[in-house]
Amino acid sequence: MSSSRTDNDSWDITSSVGATAVMVAAARAAETRRPDALIRDPYAEILIAEAGDGVWALMLDDDFVARVTTSDPEVAAMFDNMKSYQAVRTRFFDSFFEEALTAGVRQIVILASGLDSRAFRLPWPAGTTVFEIDQPKVLEYKAATLTDHGVDPTADRRAVAIDLRQDWPAALTAAGFDPGQRTAWLAEGLLMYLPADAQDRLFTQVTELSAPGSRIAAESMGLHAEDRRERMRERFARITAQFDVQPMDISELTYDDPDRADVAEWLDAHGWRATAVPSLDEMRRLDRYVEVEDADSGSFSTFTTAVRD
Ligand code: SAM
Repeated sequence: MSSSRTDNDSWDITSSVGATAVMVAAARAAETRRPDALIRDPYAEILIAEAGDGVWALMLDDDFVARVTTSDPEVAAMFDNMKSYQAVRTRFFDSFFEEALTAGVRQIVILASGLDSRAFRLPWPAGTTVFEIDQPKVLEYKAATLTDHGVDPTADRRAVAIDLRQDWPAALTAAGFDPGQRTAWLAEGLLMYLPADAQDRLFTQVTELSAPGSRIAAESMGLHAEDRRERMRERFARITAQFDVQPMDISELTYDDPDRADVAEWLDAHGWRATAVPSLDEMRRLDRYVEVEDADSGSFSTFTTAVRD
């Protein structure tokens, strides 16, 4: 069990796991500013601007990497890779939805949607319903902020405000979800915040709600080698002290369970046909990975997609 989590914990957008949603939105905002952007998320900047001050501002501080480079070029490269990773992952899962729509799927469920703005920025065909599940305060913040800025959803968006460790299938069904229709599910930036048994339960519930031809996409984290983790901790601590930065310690929030099921293996064994893509391959394919000496290839995440038989 990770140190700061409890079975029924909750959060708003600036605390605990909620703040991680702001971090990844900040990375999407940074990507959107790039002339060679892999994705464009015009709402990310609005969503982080209203979230107050936080370490996420570094994602948009072009000067920061330059300053860190003079002190520790390898840490600067890793920071760059962290930002690029979010862009690569967003693009991968945008493509997943594009393919699902091409196949005629019109029911979408984004699990742990956080500040994901896909329900507002993707060109959903008429008749598409996008269900977004996350904790109440996270969904309230996103909807209120975008509404204040005159941003409307591009699909029939239904917010399902509930914790994914509770009876979310009942809440989803009450919001109008139809288990008889094919669905495209997304679990992006979620699994590491669930204990291993909650991950199994989540996939069991998703499978029960998935008509044949449904699709799923999920991001799963790799395992960090402990010695390398310690080296990186020391290196990052030096940099954060030098630049007077308050870091966000993600490892306090995640469940680093070595017995966690492999997502593709689990899906293959439960009526899905899965394909797993190492995120490092995807980053290299898109020319968005800076090689570093002290890399830990086992710690990279995997993007899994699957179709239900
Ligand atoms: N998927 C979004 C994205 O990629 O922008 C958000 C990712 S953010 C790193 C993690 C999100 O998971 C947060 O919005 C958090 O509220 C949500 N989350 C984590 N555990 C959850 C749970 N048990 N129930 C509901 N939401 C959860």
